[in-house]
Amino acid sequence: MQPALGEFDLIRQYFSDIGPRSAEVQLSVGDDCALLSVPAGRRLAISIDTLIAGRHFPEEANAKEIATRALAVAISDLAAMGATPLAFTLAIALPQANSEWLSLFSAGLAEAADFYGIPLVGGDTTKGPLTITVQVHGSVAGNGLQRSAAQAGDSIFVTGFLGDAAAALAVIRQEIKSDTEQTGYLLDRFYRPEARVVLGQQLLGIANAAIDISDGLVADLGHIARASALAADIQVDTLPLSPVLKAVVSEPQARQFALTGGDDYELCLTVSQNNKQQLLACCRAAGVKITEIGTITPGAGVSCINGDGKPLKLSRSGYQHF
Ligand code: ADP
Ligand code: MG
Repeated sequence: MQPALGEFDLIRQYFSDIGPRSAEVQLSVGDDCALLSVPAGRRLAISIDTLIAGRHFPEEANAKEIATRALAVAISDLAAMGATPLAFTLAIALPQANSEWLSLFSAGLAEAADFYGIPLVGGDTTKGPLTITVQVHGSVAGNGLQRSAAQAGDSIFVTGFLGDAAAALAVIRQEIKSDTEQTGYLLDRFYRPEARVVLGQQLLGIANAAIDISDGLVADLGHIARASALAADIQVDTLPLSPVLKAVVSEPQARQFALTGGDDYELCLTVSQNNKQQLLACCRAAGVKITEIGTITPGAGVSCINGDGKPLKLSRSGYQHF
């Protein structure tokens, strides 16, 4: 049997050297606080996300995948603000100090932190039901990409494909069937969402408003509409659906997943007609798929419009905790 791992050994072993070194970080894990400098002329952008076992990921999920997802989910908010990552902190509650689990978690976290170029600079470690809270710190020029800045007449765009993460959850819950290859693709989309953090920074000065899609397109676009005191019309026919999603469920189900599913962590943004070509060129250069899905109009609320011009009725609008 392995000797019990103390709290401070655990921190030293698994959480003290995660992510790249950075000139902005003067003091990292090990003191009462971390010390960071914010690049001159920029603002600090802060966001925090908690993932709870059994609620945000299946209890039996692999530790590496949990770590990857936890960091991507948090960084996605920096992407949606147009912010550049500076550093992150991690508060973790663990049911026990299992070194096998911690090795995997730490390796997944290190891989993701290197990928996004963001160091872990501190945190808190406690005993309790598995809960992972990641706070990200970034820097942004000016006002960033705020939800309230959409303009009537803007086109609405989304990155990537929508609905895959919702289909992955349905596969995990054995509600739909898929072959090995399809399952691999969908689970990857759920556990390894790619925060669009490089593109987000490039959208500053091009897009008016942006949000990352965590709770479902209709719900999240609804936040832009409400904050901007405008309405949003989605042309349902134009939603970007992956070939795998279309193969594993019917077209109406695929659209339902894309509209209300959540967990995709793609960006939804609004852009004036004048800046559309610049947006398309920017996404082409970044190698990011982008699709125009609708328009911002005067009014309130989000409407989903079918190819025949008739409104689509949704059974639910997105995920809400309460
Ligand atoms: P304090 O009691 O002063 O809050 P802690 O004992 O909680 O300090 O933590 C000691 C050091 O280890 C601090 O620098 C803290 O930021 C860091 N730390 C604790 N848990 C983690 C973690 N999960 N990931 C990264 N750093 C951590
Ligand atoms: Mg503490």
